[in-house]
Amino acid sequence: MLFDMPTQSMQASVQNYMTIDTEDWFQVFYANDEIPLDSWSDQESRLSKMLDRSLKLLDQHNTKATFFCVAWLAEKHPALIKALADAGHEIGCHTYWHLPLNQISVEQFKDDITKAKKLLEDVTGQEVIGFRAPGYSLKRQDQSYIDVIEDVGFKYDSSIVGPPSAPYKIGKTLVEIPATGLKLGAGYYPANGGTFFRFLTFSMYKSYVRSLNRKGHPLNFYTHTWELYTDYPQVIRHPIKRLIQYHNLNKVHDRMDQLMQEFPFTSIQKACFQS
Ligand SMILES: [Zn+2]
Repeated sequence: MLFDMPTQSMQASVQNYMTIDTEDWFQVFYANDEIPLDSWSDQESRLSKMLDRSLKLLDQHNTKATFFCVAWLAEKHPALIKALADAGHEIGCHTYWHLPLNQISVEQFKDDITKAKKLLEDVTGQEVIGFRAPGYSLKRQDQSYIDVIEDVGFKYDSSIVGPPSAPYKIGKTLVEIPATGLKLGAGYYPANGGTFFRFLTFSMYKSYVRSLNRKGHPLNFYTHTWELYTDYPQVIRHPIKRLIQYHNLNKVHDRMDQLMQEFPFTSIQKACFQS
């Protein structure tokens, strides 16, 4: 168990976490205006190609990852999600409908993630122990949502953005594997991948990872399936949302390739829950 293990800061070399939020191109928040949830089934999926590209890249580096999956995908494409688990990657839960927590009640959240966890476990035949809220929308003060995550049976959450820190308990046994954030103004913003990874220069990003690792902190890196394979309709019209969603998408694959050459990565499950 995690708390019987030495923390990363006590280890000689830091093992970073590779996590991939698994969403099809039409399931991103900023596309909700153009493509409402009830029309997802009408869209042309790119999931197979997205996962092919992700798996090839990980295989090249002999690296296992945590795929936090939108469980709607497990219902529509069960063989693709099962293939991830069969290849030795961890399957985590990224809800069923991919809604940020400020848009759903605690009761709706419980129904959503109960259904999502069961679907993912039925499809993979494996226990799903990890959860990530869409858009890092879980905050430390959202105790009623945290209680639901624990009650539904997850062992860890990886949704709360904060300063670099070791894992810590947020429930009776529920552990937080925090997202490494940078303080900007009053709050912390996820500096561990995604938009930040695309907007910074790559040399700046690598310096950031080196400084984290030097202090004994792993990078809890995250990307999205739609950042690794980018041949899909760019439907978002709002200019700022377009910029945030699509800027430098074409750089992500090669940057990750170089990142994995320089730094060791593995799944959260392997790093924190296996001795
Ligand atoms: Zn997401």
